[in-house]
Amino acid sequence: MKIDLKNLNIKTAHQHLIKGDFSSEELTKECLNVIKEKNKDINAYLEVFEKNALERANDADKKIKEGKYTELTGIPLAIKDNILIKGQKASAGSKILENYTATYDATVIKKLKDAGAVFLGRTNMDEFAMGSSTENSAFGVTRNPLDLERVPGGSSGGSTSAVAMNSCLGALGSDTGGSVRQPSSFCGLVGLKPTYGSVSRNGLIALGSSFDVIGPIGKTTSDVEIIFNTIKGGDDLDSTTIQESKKVYPVKSREAGISLGVKLFNRARIIGVPSFVNEIGGMDNFAKNNFNESIKRLEAIGYQTKEVSLPNVKYAISAYYVTLPAEASANLARFDGVRYGLHKDGENGIDDYLKTRGVGFGKEVRRRIILGTYVLSAGYYDAYYNKAQDVRDLIREDFKSAFKEVDVIITPTTTGSAFKIGEKVNDPVRMYLEDIFTVSANLAGIPAISIPSNKKEDGSFDGGLPLGLQIIAPQMEEDVLFEIAKNFLGEK
Ligand code: GLN
Repeated sequence: MKIDLKNLNIKTAHQHLIKGDFSSEELTKECLNVIKEKNKDINAYLEVFEKNALERANDADKKIKEGKYTELTGIPLAIKDNILIKGQKASAGSKILENYTATYDATVIKKLKDAGAVFLGRTNMDEFAMGSSTENSAFGVTRNPLDLERVPGGSSGGSTSAVAMNSCLGALGSDTGGSVRQPSSFCGLVGLKPTYGSVSRNGLIALGSSFDVIGPIGKTTSDVEIIFNTIKGGDDLDSTTIQESKKVYPVKSREAGISLGVKLFNRARIIGVPSFVNEIGGMDNFAKNNFNESIKRLEAIGYQTKEVSLPNVKYAISAYYVTLPAEASANLARFDGVRYGLHKDGENGIDDYLKTRGVGFGKEVRRRIILGTYVLSAGYYDAYYNKAQDVRDLIREDFKSAFKEVDVIITPTTTGSAFKIGEKVNDPVRMYLEDIFTVSANLAGIPAISIPSNKKEDGSFDGGLPLGLQIIAPQMEEDVLFEIAKNFLGEK
């Protein structure tokens, strides 16, 4: 059977694999061909694990023949460059880690290996996941496969481009302030930021440890759900994971909503629409209209909508850009030129350190280290860091009270579609505003998904470029996100 990657997803590829229509080796070879053809223009992959991928594909084919498989056995995936795979390089898009080779598997990788997945390569990203366009990588910009003049979003832009250029069937990204959802929205894909602590951070190169979470990217909600179900769960190697989830992931026993029968305690689920969406400056009209259409679409399939107020969310960007640099500056202190990656010789120990970090870190990373150490310094700690923590608590409370009235909350994922390469990269504040709709879920630790909101039946996007709808749920209620996403997209 001819393999048509454009029209395959994890679910359908799995069916073909178990029916024997094609093997994982054939599927993997086809993905490698696409990478060979397109990666030079798109730069989604920093490195391709050709030999290793084919070996894993062969193993997967054996397992499938023996009837010992999962839905991910033999499925080719792309992995963001900040997630460790034993024996492979992991650079987090940074010169400072250019030649660092991982000595162990991240927990998510171990789980995906156990499930039989195939890793095609590591994908480009903004350095240390700081950015919204993948222009901050030390290894060149990644282009959006839907329009090569535009960014794919970031920081997981390599992963989303890898899926959007039909070179793999799914990918892993990481989301600290929006880095799975925003690029998924720019590339017309589904991307999930899981509940903080539902997926282990062991083996993820840290950015902001109280925000970071690894999340799946795919063409459909079901694909994202399959990857999420494989990687989630408590982990002794990450004490912030939710331990109860080790045995049974505590999904509330709600009646699943099937199209019109969206019943919850005998009522349709209520979708909250925050009033601040209409007050956001810089929102483009096309995105605004599309969001209003999405509300109508949800109502048409049987959901109730209701306006909610999240009074402190307007401070989310400010709180995030104080707290995140603080955590990042602490996390990045370990890159001292002695233990990992790059080393530059100076006059003495301190000079080695200064030289290594001065050369090894890019501009945005240095900016955040300076910002972070400033807000943590004596005299400013209370005025900035503690204040931002207080705001974070208020935002968490805003969501808690809103979720007393509604089941989920929707917003656009971004204020517009993918912007041009070079358009925002020299204006950090404009770049930070990319996160306006996404950071709140990270501050509150709750799950959120981005789904394409202007996709037409024929797979193209109304108006040309994709836009995303973000759905946010209470802690551990990813199942509700999947249900609404599937109904919205008309997925079975
Ligand atoms: N754009 C945000 C930042 O630059 C989010 C990054 C992320 O989620 N990793 O911090």
